[in-house]
Amino acid sequence: MAQSIIIIAEHFEGELRPVTYELVGFALELQKFCPAKIKMLILGDDVAGLAQDAATHTGLDVVAVIVPALTTYNLEVYKGILSERLPDLDPVYICMAHTTQGADLAPPLAVRIKAACITGVVQVSGEKDRVSFARDMYAGKVVATFESTSERRILTLQPGSLPSPVFDHPAPVAVETWTATYLAKQSMSRGIKPPKETNAALTEAEVVVSAGKGVGKKENLQIIDNLSRLWPGSAVGGSRPVCDSGWLEYRQQVGTTGATVAPKLYVACGISGASQHIAGMRGSGFIVAINRDSGAAIFNVADVCVVEDLITFIPCLIEEHRKQSI
Ligand SMILES: Cc1cc2nc3c(=O)[nH]c(=O)nc-3n(C[C@H](O)[C@H](O)[C@H](O)COP(=O)(O)OP(=O)(O)OC[C@H]3O[C@@H](n4cnc5c(N)ncnc54)[C@H](O)[C@@H]3O)c2cc1C
Repeated sequence: MAQSIIIIAEHFEGELRPVTYELVGFALELQKFCPAKIKMLILGDDVAGLAQDAATHTGLDVVAVIVPALTTYNLEVYKGILSERLPDLDPVYICMAHTTQGADLAPPLAVRIKAACITGVVQVSGEKDRVSFARDMYAGKVVATFESTSERRILTLQPGSLPSPVFDHPAPVAVETWTATYLAKQSMSRGIKPPKETNAALTEAEVVVSAGKGVGKKENLQIIDNLSRLWPGSAVGGSRPVCDSGWLEYRQQVGTTGATVAPKLYVACGISGASQHIAGMRGSGFIVAINRDSGAAIFNVADVCVVEDLITFIPCLIEEHRKQSI
């Protein structure tokens, strides 16, 4: 049987999550080193239409894995079904997103099917028999490179690392349908609640000023707020630790598990530049980063790098702006 590169799709409320298309780009990259057939698996109780749409859009082989009553992701069910079905497809690579779902599923599935597991991949390089996978470490300051000697690998792709490919009217392909039943014995999903408030103010703002853990304490957010007031209609965002600490609301979080923003100007204050944050703001028009560590990874994507203590620098900047506007 021919070898395969498998994509495990992520979907929500009847639509593929955008990261699934990034996984297609990732699989196409892998195909340069391994001439195996790409196949996308979509699991759920009502995914036939979604699978047809995905096949029409990408031109890839897509399998609708119909699992009665599986309305949202469930680790036990995904792991149970995939560990039964994947070996028959002889997968060389199994690709999923480095999201809450992928990070939950990849390690236990790898143990179950005796595969290597490399998580948070941002880049793939090498040659046929020697493929390397890069991932960020220490908030993006260090890039670690991994190779696997295993014949089967599960890879999780860091969202935002690779662009989604442009699909140019692919030839129509037929969708396969499998039916699988697997009853979760130890856990059940109780659904996903959408946030009560939207983050439209953040995603639509032309200027976003974001606070990172480097602000030090909640009270210092006033400095970030003051800076954002230089631009009427701007919004304040933040990194995940700032939201986890309750200093800002989750709807203000920028990054893979927060909002994706693309303002004309993004000002990152005291943000280290971990790939999960960068993924949410990389598309900004112009990026200014203020960080007291000249080696901070955020400077790799910044147009202007300010190596300063934000607590002293930002008030000086505001004061200078005030003087010049008089
Ligand atoms: C599955 C997963 C999903 C994630 N999703 C997200 C996400 O959506 N968004 C997100 O942001 N993170 C996310 N993270 C977390 C991410 O990996 C980083 O931990 C986080 O982005 C780091 O936040 P930070 O830069 O604010 O803090 P830190 O990494 O602690 O960096 C603080 C920075 O502030 C600088 N600093 C300190 N004091 C000052 C000062 N006085 N003046 C100037 N600079 C100063 C320091 O030099 C440092 O660079 C996710 C992680 C995982 C595993």
